[in-house]
Amino acid sequence: MFWDQFSDGEKAEAAWDGKARELGASHPLKILRTLPQMPGIAEGAIKRKGLFYLLRHANGLFWRYFFRQPLCYTLRLFRSYLRGKSYVRDGDFFLYSFSSLAQFTEKLRDPNSLFVLGFSYCHKPFECPSGRFTDQCIKDPEHPVCRQCFIGKCAHAAPPSAKLLWIPTIHYIGEQMFVLKEAHPDKKIVFLITACEMSLEMFGDWGYMAELEGIGVRLDGRICNTMRAFELSEKGVKPGLTVVLDETQKRMLEILKLARSRGAQYTAPG
Ligand code: SF4
Repeated sequence: MFWDQFSDGEKAEAAWDGKARELGASHPLKILRTLPQMPGIAEGAIKRKGLFYLLRHANGLFWRYFFRQPLCYTLRLFRSYLRGKSYVRDGDFFLYSFSSLAQFTEKLRDPNSLFVLGFSYCHKPFECPSGRFTDQCIKDPEHPVCRQCFIGKCAHAAPPSAKLLWIPTIHYIGEQMFVLKEAHPDKKIVFLITACEMSLEMFGDWGYMAELEGIGVRLDGRICNTMRAFELSEKGVKPGLTVVLDETQKRMLEILKLARSRGAQYTAPG
């Protein structure tokens, strides 16, 4: 990984950003010139709609994992719905099962934690060499697009033991979490995942159901804020670009720095 070539994170980031700026002049990407002022959620009853959506589209793999502990999962899901809000908000960070960022970072230090870093496909650049609506990412630091891509930067700044995911659909991430849980029964998943506010609102209860802990990072830009837009995006129809805001990018990189400096305590997820 690019960060491994440097003695400290600041030097790695300066080298990454310097080249990215050069490439921005020689290989400019299609970016959002202005941020659209879009409400995060533009319609009501979003949790109920999310529940129906998940049940309607859940596939065999999801149910296979669900039915390993159906009672436990169902009880946890209802408990979560009864609790009301499933998260604590800290700026663009939606904290699930943590009441503060300090608690989250403390958990990252736990050798029994498995750090999962995930990115919604909708903030991949239009020019992404791996394609946008896929779970792939070549993260090539010499590629002119990857080098300008925040996802690529995070992938290289993350600790080597982190499990990286590129997320095309909500069911994909659910299944991956079940797979990881099963593959690492002795580990507690701690995630940092980007998503639009509507997804963070709708599906936090499902994270609680599956006993997942972590942070959902709110995306801005051309987000999905209606169920119709969300459903189209789940089929790869996403003509707009979402972004992690600059300040939030810095906060994510701080977390990765911390995770990396304590990375020796993690066990590679395989
Ligand atoms: S780093 Fe990954 S997501 Fe970003 S442009 Fe490269 S392949 Fe696409």
